[in-house]
Amino acid sequence: ATLDPTATEPSAADVPALLPVVGATTTVPLVDGTSRVYANLDCAASAPALESVAERVAEVLPLYASVHRGAGYLSQVCTGLYESARATVARFVGAREDDVAIITRNTTDALNLLAGCVPDGGRVLHLDMEHHANYLPWTQGATHDRATLVAAGPTVAASLAEIEAELARRPYALLALTGASNVTGETLPVEEVVRIAHAAGARVVVDGAQLVPHRGFSLTATGADYVAFSGHKTYAPYGAGALVGRRDWLDAGRPHLAGGGAVRDVRPDRTVWLPAPARHEAGSPNVIGAVALAQACQTLAELPEGALAAHEDTLRTRLVDGLEALDGVRVLRLWADATDPVGVVTFTVPGHDPGLVAAYLSAEHGIGVRDGRFCAHPLLARLGAPQGAVRASVGVGTTSEAVDRLVDALRRYLDQGP
Ligand code: PLP
Repeated sequence: ATLDPTATEPSAADVPALLPVVGATTTVPLVDGTSRVYANLDCAASAPALESVAERVAEVLPLYASVHRGAGYLSQVCTGLYESARATVARFVGAREDDVAIITRNTTDALNLLAGCVPDGGRVLHLDMEHHANYLPWTQGATHDRATLVAAGPTVAASLAEIEAELARRPYALLALTGASNVTGETLPVEEVVRIAHAAGARVVVDGAQLVPHRGFSLTATGADYVAFSGHKTYAPYGAGALVGRRDWLDAGRPHLAGGGAVRDVRPDRTVWLPAPARHEAGSPNVIGAVALAQACQTLAELPEGALAAHEDTLRTRLVDGLEALDGVRVLRLWADATDPVGVVTFTVPGHDPGLVAAYLSAEHGIGVRDGRFCAHPLLARLGAPQGAVRASVGVGTTSEAVDRLVDALRRYLDQGP
């Protein structure tokens, strides 16, 4: 670790990282010519990989060989690694015995895949709080006339009532629900939403991109029908994610990619597709990505019960309290009665361009946050920040030092005046 000359004195309440991640001691250049240990407060965009993941990748990299195709020993080993990664990922999200886990590129890929499997004519309901990945797949192409938007109400209770009323108005095949908002970190009670949807005959897919890495998730416990999530937000590298859920739609739906590995028999006049998961995984699969994702799932699953949520709650509370104590910072919230938000906090500094605030935090303090509209344009507009905002997000590798540094940096920024 590089010595950090501007680090503040440790206090009794310091919160260490919950798990070791790679790059935790990376230093970055500051505008004054010095450098500082990077404070990564952008875990909601992509979270740094766990050290256990990096070790596992190094272990399996020498075993590279073709999957599901070769007769050689390493091909068999790799096929085993890939299939056991699939099983670990499925277990991590509490899959039921007959659920299927498809390895995708990320959440976006997973939700697009499912969009191609909704039975013909089936309507899809989603709210206006979604990331575009859980919004556009339901409004594009073949699904064009099928999506209906319900505004998420001013309270959780009102939002649930709106969902229930819309589901009663006409039949829906699927409700696409954000597990945790990538803007405010807020969550709707998934079990309750599933109960309402199932009572109306609709299935539920949970966009777990933010919920799964920050809280964990169980299909069995919540009763949800599908969950989608991304490896790069779950402390694994880019390039692998998953869609896990009920087999029937996935066995019958449009193959996500056309190509080798997805078919039983091809003749000039006829193609016989395999059932899921192979049906949707044409081409050589991302073995290393799947193994890395599975290792991340395994390491998170081994944490003591409640440790993940407790770590994030502590840091989120510290961050929100620190921000709200600053005159001139507004923390964005959807609901007055939200419970159990994850460690994603978005704020504005009214009168200040979010891009400039984020650039100041980076250049002067070595803090990485995100600014913009976070691929959730309708939500930002509804939150009164159509021009964008600044988002800080924590993860298992985040310490209280990073959170305190952000609050302190913003105080200095505000002290400088407009
Ligand atoms: N859904 C939510 C809630 C997200 O936060 C994100 C990414 O920010 C996505 C979906 C899309 O994830 P990916 O870019 O990994 O496909």
